[in-house]
Amino acid sequence: MLLGAIEAGGTKFVCAIGTKDGEILERISFPTTTPKETMGKVIDFFCDKKIEAMGVGSFGPIDLDKNSKTYGCITSTPKPHWSNYNILEELKEHFDFPINLDTDVNGAALGEATWGSAVELDSVIYLTVGTGIGGGVYSGGKLVHGMTHPETGHILVRRALGDKYKGKCPYHGDCLEGMASGPAIEERWGAKAYELPEDHRAWDLEAYYLAQGLVNYILIVSPKKIILGGGVMKQKQLFPLIREKVMKLLNGYVSHKNILEDIDQYIVPPKLGDNAGICGALALGLEKIQ
Ligand code: ADP
Ligand code: ZN
Repeated sequence: MLLGAIEAGGTKFVCAIGTKDGEILERISFPTTTPKETMGKVIDFFCDKKIEAMGVGSFGPIDLDKNSKTYGCITSTPKPHWSNYNILEELKEHFDFPINLDTDVNGAALGEATWGSAVELDSVIYLTVGTGIGGGVYSGGKLVHGMTHPETGHILVRRALGDKYKGKCPYHGDCLEGMASGPAIEERWGAKAYELPEDHRAWDLEAYYLAQGLVNYILIVSPKKIILGGGVMKQKQLFPLIREKVMKLLNGYVSHKNILEDIDQYIVPPKLGDNAGICGALALGLEKIQ
């Protein structure tokens, strides 16, 4: 049985064919331009493939309310041309197989729970720290969808003492994404994030803001694992800094051994590595037929 997967990102799209064991057999990737051009390439790739279901992990926000008139639409994105574009409807016009649309990060959380570092756990949060910050929430064995979907990147954080940076979020300025996304790091320090040396003080500040986010997720969702992916998390020195600050901020309040003794296994990178996004989409396809 073959499954189709689309990782629909604001920068690039990845399309793949894979198996129910999470193995990717074929893939292509291309830059995200206009919906017409980008989706044209998607449809060309899948039109001759024999697949049973498809999963789509999309950038967002997206409307996932099946009773809404705009179900399947990418809604308020600042990405030019894509605001109010109905990606699900476009795919359904061309394909008859079942299609499961969710956020890219919900997909990644499901992928990690299916084949990655959260296998056998019924509760995990996947956070990506890249051009934006977003998180997928898997709880009680299900992806969380409420009124819309969780927006873990736009939570409010306390400023570090003396931090005067205004923040990069076009909606909130200094929310978590505004203070800690890749573009925020770059604007704050005037250099590409990947060019900053490993011991630059940017990373301690970055860990401070991300740790606040994690503390809030721990207190609200109580996930059994937190997975941190995305371009910025390629800076591996962030992991120990974040773990230390999470412990300090919680100050012993959540007294569980995952935090007190095994935090190195609790806050981890994605086991699926750079495949977290596309395998996540594949997992969404699998979920649709299971
Ligand atoms: P996207 O969020 O667009 O899907 P990424 O997760 O790759 O893509 O995130 C891109 C952001 O991550 C950019 O702001 C980039 O500067 C930053 N980034 C990419 N690689 C690194 C790295 N090795 N170290 C620090 N930041 C990085
Ligand atoms: Zn925001």
